[in-house]
Amino acid sequence: MKVLVINCGSSSLKYQVLNMEDESLLCKGLVEKIGIDGSMLTHSKVGADKFVVEQPMKDHTDAIQLVLDALVDKDHGVLASMDELQAVGHRVLHGGDKFTASIVVDEKVKETIRECFPLGPLHNPANLMGIEACEKLMPHTPQVAVFDTAFHQTMPAKSFMYALPYEYYEKHSVRKYGFHGTYHRYIAQTAAKMLGSETGEGLKIISCHLGNGASLAAIKDGKVYDTSMGLTPLEGLIMGTRCGDIDPAAVPFIAEKEGLTMKEMDTVMNKKSGILGISGVSSDFRDVEAAADAGNERAQLALDMFVQRVKHYIGAYAAEMGGVDAIVFTAGLGENGKTTRAAICKDMEFLGIKMCDKCNDVRGKEAFLNTADSKVKLLLIPTNEELMIARDTLE
Ligand code: ADP
Repeated sequence: MKVLVINCGSSSLKYQVLNMEDESLLCKGLVEKIGIDGSMLTHSKVGADKFVVEQPMKDHTDAIQLVLDALVDKDHGVLASMDELQAVGHRVLHGGDKFTASIVVDEKVKETIRECFPLGPLHNPANLMGIEACEKLMPHTPQVAVFDTAFHQTMPAKSFMYALPYEYYEKHSVRKYGFHGTYHRYIAQTAAKMLGSETGEGLKIISCHLGNGASLAAIKDGKVYDTSMGLTPLEGLIMGTRCGDIDPAAVPFIAEKEGLTMKEMDTVMNKKSGILGISGVSSDFRDVEAAADAGNERAQLALDMFVQRVKHYIGAYAAEMGGVDAIVFTAGLGENGKTTRAAICKDMEFLGIKMCDKCNDVRGKEAFLNTADSKVKLLLIPTNEELMIARDTLE
């Protein structure tokens, strides 16, 4: 039972093949610069050297054809023939409010992904291209769409509505959707298991996905109650290059002062803000931490602001859920950044949060980070989005 997982971007594509009998990874790879000069595929079979193919690829169909060739390659492949591949799971960014779970792709599903183009203009078209390329190359293999937004569909209206004129919700579907849903679902399930529960019933969990893109989710009884990203992945936490929450009135104010169009403002907020914008150093937390250690005050300010915003949401979500049983750290910074984790948990005893410094000296593996007398459990869980996509696909 082998499943191919595809995460298609506009000019790149990541993939993995998993053996679902034991959920082991067989190979993974990356295709870069699809449709532009210098296209190449880097394929890594588990336990073997990397295999690189540099060859022009005019579109996603060319790219996926090359991936399929690599999968059955007699030296670097992991499949004897394509018949061994049971299904393909695709990460799709936006399912609007149409999909609450993963679904087998048919014409109607594709139409809905298309209808959500305005909500995910960078990702949804690329995701659909990936699906259509696979359909063309593997017409008899089922394709499954796994939506980034689906897990958040359980949010109550009081969490997902914006206090704008109601007609914008009705006419243009303007509301909070939330992203990183597949990640947060993996965290909800894994955390529940670590806490001795099968379903997560009765548990209040705050999942902190802290990477270049970052979001928190408040998960009550295994379902999302609130999340920090919104209509787009810009809202909420301060991120590598994204500003997160700001006064919306700052947008027309800056646009007028700087003579920027709304589109240019969008670029400023998504690409030039966040940790990069404040520090002026980098969007990468490692670089900013190094600069702060060397005495760069703006780098330190960027890190302090990031931590403050995470604390802000933890406090808010504990209040919204009427308490919190566990806080989970995950993604690049959440899994590796012990200094940031410690800073987030500092002075939080009033909420029942006590971090054990020794336990916090860990990276990249499932662990408890709290003291024995901490009311709130602190967990580290490495992300595994591809595994969730593969599980959904199999199901
Ligand atoms: P995304 O998938 O959103 O691109 P990741 O989850 O891969 O992001 O996280 C990337 C971020 O994690 C980077 O900013 C990186 O600096 C940070 N990170 C990775 N390792 C460490 C580390 N050892 N210490 C601090 N930050 C780290």
